[in-house]
Amino acid sequence: MSDLIDTFGRVHTNLRISVTDRCNFRCVYCMPEEGMNWLHRSELLSYEEIARVVQVAASLGIRKLRLTGGEPMMRKDLPVLIEMLSKIDGIEEIAMTTNGFFLKGKARTLYEAGLQRINVSLDSMNSQKFKEMARRDALKEVLEGLEEVEKVPIRPIKLNCVVIRGYNDDEVIELAKLAREKPYVVRFLEFMPIGEEDGWSMERVVPSREIRERINEWKELRPIEVERGSTPSEMYTFADGVGKIGFISPVSEPFCAQCDRLRITSDGKLRNCLFAMEEMDLKSILRKGGKDELIRDVFLASVKAKKPGHLIGHKEFVRPEKTMSQIGG
Ligand code: SAM
Ligand code: SF4
Repeated sequence: MSDLIDTFGRVHTNLRISVTDRCNFRCVYCMPEEGMNWLHRSELLSYEEIARVVQVAASLGIRKLRLTGGEPMMRKDLPVLIEMLSKIDGIEEIAMTTNGFFLKGKARTLYEAGLQRINVSLDSMNSQKFKEMARRDALKEVLEGLEEVEKVPIRPIKLNCVVIRGYNDDEVIELAKLAREKPYVVRFLEFMPIGEEDGWSMERVVPSREIRERINEWKELRPIEVERGSTPSEMYTFADGVGKIGFISPVSEPFCAQCDRLRITSDGKLRNCLFAMEEMDLKSILRKGGKDELIRDVFLASVKAKKPGHLIGHKEFVRPEKTMSQIGG
């Protein structure tokens, strides 16, 4: 049973938590080269505060958590948080989205703490191109981190590849090959307009259909029928059944009608959509000694206020001021 049903009948079982706004990368599509005005440590929710919010969220129907950021692994002792969250009644799944840089030497600890699934962002297999996109020379570390994850039962291992025309659109076959050669599900994401300045333009977006056609010309793809629910990706396998490829198309084929997500930003606000213009403050309730009922009320109000979907591509669309790294992508 869930109390988190919005006016369009969408049931919210998924909570994404941005544990920090900081990042060691500066991906061109996410944040400026000079970085951001980072939050002071005291402005981030503490692990106890996050656990308290999750406890209330779980009592309302949240079942799945995803830790993200910024770079979640920049937060000190992240496994401690994972372990705390994994003990909360009702929480069935804990996942993380990471740039993969710090995974080396940490995969087992994360697994033992309770991490079940992982998404690693990887936009290029060419170290020069990687450096251009992440503005860090770090492909080697990310690949080594991925290899370590392979050795522990964190599954699935998904790769998130943001495809940007003029950057890495010539590499989709190389990236798709990883789905056949490695135990990775490779997912292609369309470039989204978030934050004040990310160089976004419609011309830079490579629609999923175009990527799919290119891969299909190389090797035939077949759709896999899955319940969309918590996964916004359309899934395919190759005709020989080897490898899984996903396409996430927020720009060309929005999946808002199936959205089951809520988000907690790095500064402790509840957000009902990546593209929402309003947030509700949880941190002030936590810090002023507010009761659990107040946290519940914020969740219920946020879900009630959720709009049917975003308007990317329409003239009414307004970009959220916060970047993906601040909201928690
Ligand atoms: N630092 C971690 C990482 O990169 O995986 C977690 C946070 S990052 C904001 C989460 C995801 O958002 C990444 O897969 C990243 O590629 C994606 N992302 C960031 N900005 C984006 C944009 N403008 N359009 C599409 N995806 C974006
Ligand atoms: Fe950092 Fe992730 Fe944003 Fe890249 S996408 S700058 S790794 S938060």
